Amino acid sequence: MDQALRDRWLAQADATLSSAGRRAGAARTAIVEWLAREGQCLVTAQDVLDRLPQGSPSSVYRTLDELFALGLLHRFHGQDGVARYEIADPLRHHHHFIDEASGAARPFTDDELERAIEAAARRLGVRLTGHEVVIRGRRSTNGTQS
Ligand SMILES: [Zn+2]
Repeated sequence: MDQALRDRWLAQADATLSSAGRRAGAARTAIVEWLAREGQCLVTAQDVLDRLPQGSPSSVYRTLDELFALGLLHRFHGQDGVARYEIADPLRHHHHFIDEASGAARPFTDDELERAIEAAARRLGVRLTGHEVVIRGRRSTNGTQS
């Protein structure tokens, strides 16, 4: 867990939720605090429910929708149809590799990829406000990554 990211996102979530006039309830506060720690890369609503037994399914789904609508979470739809979320942070950014053998999602960063995306945006005449890349595949047996 990235402690600085946790603190920064919690402060952003507090500011955003209060300026949106959303009243903090105990259930939402627990979910937001859990996401700050455990939602730094892809989690599902079920993950939240499994780890926060005091949260009801309706409060978890409502809170995830609310945080997504306010731009505090990124949402990804996997091939299994299950929505996954992670906290949105302007200072930290990664992409995902989906291992099709196991279905597991792994975060990665790649400076060359970032430069290629910026160059593509320039060629397209687009002012880049965001991007996300999902690489799907199977690890080669002689791959160099651990
Ligand atoms: Zn991630």
